[in-house]
Amino acid sequence: MSEELEHVKCLIIGSGPAGYTAAIYAARADLKPVMITGMQMGGQLTQTTDVENFPGYPGGVMGPEMMEDFRKQAERFGTDIRFGYVSNVDFSGPVHKVIVDENTTILADTVIVSTGATAKWLGLPSEEKYNGFGVSACAVCDGFFFKNQDVVIVGAGDTAAEEATYLAKLCNKVTMLVRRDEFRASKAMVNRVLKTKNIEILYNSETKEILGDGKGVTAVKVVNNVTREETDVPATGFFVAIGHKPNTDIFKDWLTMDDVGYIITQPDSTATEIEGVFVCGDAQDKIYRQAVTAAGTGCMAALEAERYLAAKEDVEA
Ligand code: NDP
Repeated sequence: MSEELEHVKCLIIGSGPAGYTAAIYAARADLKPVMITGMQMGGQLTQTTDVENFPGYPGGVMGPEMMEDFRKQAERFGTDIRFGYVSNVDFSGPVHKVIVDENTTILADTVIVSTGATAKWLGLPSEEKYNGFGVSACAVCDGFFFKNQDVVIVGAGDTAAEEATYLAKLCNKVTMLVRRDEFRASKAMVNRVLKTKNIEILYNSETKEILGDGKGVTAVKVVNNVTREETDVPATGFFVAIGHKPNTDIFKDWLTMDDVGYIITQPDSTATEIEGVFVCGDAQDKIYRQAVTAAGTGCMAALEAERYLAAKEDVEA
């Protein structure tokens, strides 16, 4: 005889700020949430150092420590947190099937997707070596540490353009490395970059290596891909802004996404076209991508899940 499958009211996939916030709200609403953490428990913030822009930490906090606080708060209200990864989902029926670690199926009345996104990196060994020590994929998070200093940013999309202008307000000089002879970013964003006096754009330019003294970044070796000429650009910060990849592949047969993989939710809502499936955080947000905005949408997802379940109970009663 086959064993009966576990059936939960609310299953949360992912353990970043969006997932933990959803868990806090769902647990306090007595939805008895089960969270499947994903392989990187705590999400992207566990790979950063100081977080100074999350409200409630006046002295700043280390990213991993903040995520521990999130976890403890979610646990305090009874969230059942399980380390593992969701390998597949089946949203074909009224009750959703979530397959964990390839072999365990959990049935869920509501699913909150908070699987986040992964920043793309260039893949250079020196980039990895100085990650958190001058190398960053988030100007809004880390720009402050480079106040009045010289920095380099790589990328030519809207994110790079926005981050370059953000950095230009804080830093002495921003050198922008654009790999082709033109931007990908929208005209308005490019114009803003072009109008900013302390941004220098190097076209046809790629990063060969990030140079450092063992403790931090000191310069960036740049190669012109037309002339092959190499130049060392002095800088203490190196920002990578070449795009993000949302961790949403397992949902592609069920949920509408844009061409990059960001899940499309209904306006002013975390609801999707599948009843009872809600998406929050970076899996659906390509514009703000901040811990605090992810937490905000995590709260929305839990409230919407709660209302969905309450309405369903009313109908069934
Ligand atoms: P994009 O994919 O739009 O752009 C990535 C950029 O990085 C491209 O210019 C690309 O160059 C460059 N790039 C990629 N790989 C490398 C590499 N190995 N070396 C050097 N350069 C590289 O990503 P974004 O994050 O900029 O934007 C994602 C989406 O979010 C877009 O749709 C954008 O419009 C949107 N967005 C909107 C904002 C807003 O409205 N305020 C703000 C931020 C993002 P190339 O052009 O040569 O391919």
